[in-house]
Amino acid sequence: MAIRSKRASCHSSAGKHESRQIMSHKKSTPILGEHNAKICPVCGKRSYSAGGIHPQCAVQQADAPRAAQINAKKKAEAKKTPVARKLPQTWTKKTCPKCRVEVHVRKKTCDCGFDFFKS
Ligand SMILES: [Zn+2]
Ligand SMILES: [Zn+2]
Repeated sequence: MAIRSKRASCHSSAGKHESRQIMSHKKSTPILGEHNAKICPVCGKRSYSAGGIHPQCAVQQADAPRAAQINAKKKAEAKKTPVARKLPQTWTKKTCPKCRVEVHVRKKTCDCGFDFFKS
């Protein structure tokens, strides 16, 4: 008889624990669904890896900017040569026909007294 009563008390306490566990288990267990999968930005296919990108695609992506940089460098070098050429200085200066001295275009008269506007 004593054993029975013990079991009964044991059962009741177990029941209390069970109800508590059910309460705490509520709202856990998130559903791992399709939205968890990421789309690989390189190949556009679904990727389940941490970064959302396939390892082999990551390698491709790492190489892409390097190739672009090389292309940009080549373009810049091709553009450089014509720009480097200096403009002739003659457009800022004019030569005095009397003393053959170069005078600034904005000057009306030469130091020798030659008047550019009179000639
Ligand atoms: Zn990929
Ligand atoms: Zn002059």
